[in-house]
Amino acid sequence: MKTISIDFDGTLTDIPEALALLAASLKSQGHRVIVITRRYETEENQAKVYRHIVDNKIAVDRVVFAGPLCKRTAASMVGESVDIWIDDQPESITRTMPLPTAAQARKRSKRQR
Ligand SMILES: [Mg+2]
Repeated sequence: MKTISIDFDGTLTDIPEALALLAASLKSQGHRVIVITRRYETEENQAKVYRHIVDNKIAVDRVVFAGPLCKRTAASMVGESVDIWIDDQPESITRTMPLPTAAQARKRSKRQR
């Protein structure tokens, strides 16, 4: 059994039909599928991510909002050990981003709406 992480922005948002098929296939073979996003865990982001997952019927075991953490760290903090990553920005898996300034955070939250 493998754990497969699928990124959200630029990945699940861009090819949802293909990844829905992949996720269903992986799940049917007993693998875990999780979404790990660098988005912050705000109500808006939760609504947007979960809406996309439901609308596109993507079989997902859990969603992890990494925020400023690198995805590998965020995953391990919630007890996930990812075997395979599907991500348009692979550097986000291992690279921790600096915390945004308040202005950057406001801009980011507007952009992600
Ligand atoms: Mg991405």
